[in-house]
Amino acid sequence: MEKIKMVDLQGQYLQIKDEIDRAIQDVLTSTAFIQGPQVNAFATALGEYIGSPFVIPCANGTDALQIAMMALGFKPGDEIILPVHTYVATGEVIALLGLTPVFVDVDPGDFNINVDQIEERITAKTVAIVPVHLYGQCADMESILAIANRRGLHVIEDVAQALGAVYRFSNGDVRNAGTMGTIGTTSFFPSKNLGCYGDGGAIFTNDASLAEKIRMISNHGQKVKYHHDVVGVNSRLDTLQAAILQVKLKYLDEYAQKRNEVASFYDEALKHFQFLEVPFRSKNSSHVFHQYTLKIKNGNRDAFKSHLEANGIPTMIYYPVPLHLQKAYMREGFGEGTFVVTEKLSSEVISLPIHTEMELDQLLYIKSVIEKFQPA
Ligand SMILES: *Cc1c(COP(=O)(O)O)cnc(C)c1O
Repeated sequence: MEKIKMVDLQGQYLQIKDEIDRAIQDVLTSTAFIQGPQVNAFATALGEYIGSPFVIPCANGTDALQIAMMALGFKPGDEIILPVHTYVATGEVIALLGLTPVFVDVDPGDFNINVDQIEERITAKTVAIVPVHLYGQCADMESILAIANRRGLHVIEDVAQALGAVYRFSNGDVRNAGTMGTIGTTSFFPSKNLGCYGDGGAIFTNDASLAEKIRMISNHGQKVKYHHDVVGVNSRLDTLQAAILQVKLKYLDEYAQKRNEVASFYDEALKHFQFLEVPFRSKNSSHVFHQYTLKIKNGNRDAFKSHLEANGIPTMIYYPVPLHLQKAYMREGFGEGTFVVTEKLSSEVISLPIHTEMELDQLLYIKSVIEKFQPA
């Protein structure tokens, strides 16, 4: 049996090595390292894939969030609502721009923002809601968009973990993650579902004038070289990364399919254990399983993790410390006990290895090791 990894970037590369090597060599030959033709070609292909008319590539998923908030003209003191159970980047850019992060607890089922607690956090200063489609499954976008419309707020979808996920509205409309809000943002960090070989990100919008602003901001606030109309940043996707992503985008559905097969195996193998809960499947969203995240009950999580690790099975905890308890984001009156679901999840969640190269013998081995775990 091959050694088990959380993600197997090397195995995935070897499957498509010829195509990738050729794409890289083409960029080296042309030496158009910045804004080469592959960047636009990839943006167009990605737009077609997710059904977004405007796709603006940028340097990473954190920048994508920052540029989105700059383009919407948010001012210091404006309040942004976001789930407290998320990766730090979502809260980080809000704080960096002098905006105020307003955390909301998550749903214990799908781990996404609890839509029943959003309205009570809206004030006169609130300008946007940032749902994060965590672990690969869409948040309750129908409710979020209804609240946003009613209260005149923007929605910025953080799609870093859910590129390719599809959401079904109650009227039958089907939309891709990242195309439902005012703006969608994503990351091509190597371990994401569509990962490049370094850093990368992209921003989606249906609005032409917003797209133009986003394009300007991500390129030093200029439309014409050396003419800077607004304050911008330097955040571009390298041509090399775009060339790699152009190749990998063709396989994204296949990758999601493979992840779903692994998830289904785990579901079947683990669902009867009393000490754990397998991931909840939302009825309105497909799942692209960026992570396969279990809840381990009754204080058994850390022992479970040690048991797997002692048997050569890596695991990860996303996320061990909730944002409101992080030194950088602590606020008066928001200590322990403020967001009870997130706090409980931080002691219960554990993500098992899931990637596009997992073999049946590895899955059977993981199952057999879990079967030997003795919960307290
Ligand atoms: C990975 C991630 C980001 C940041 O992406 P980078 O490309 O690493 O900057 C933002 N939000 C979420 C939810 C993520 O998982």
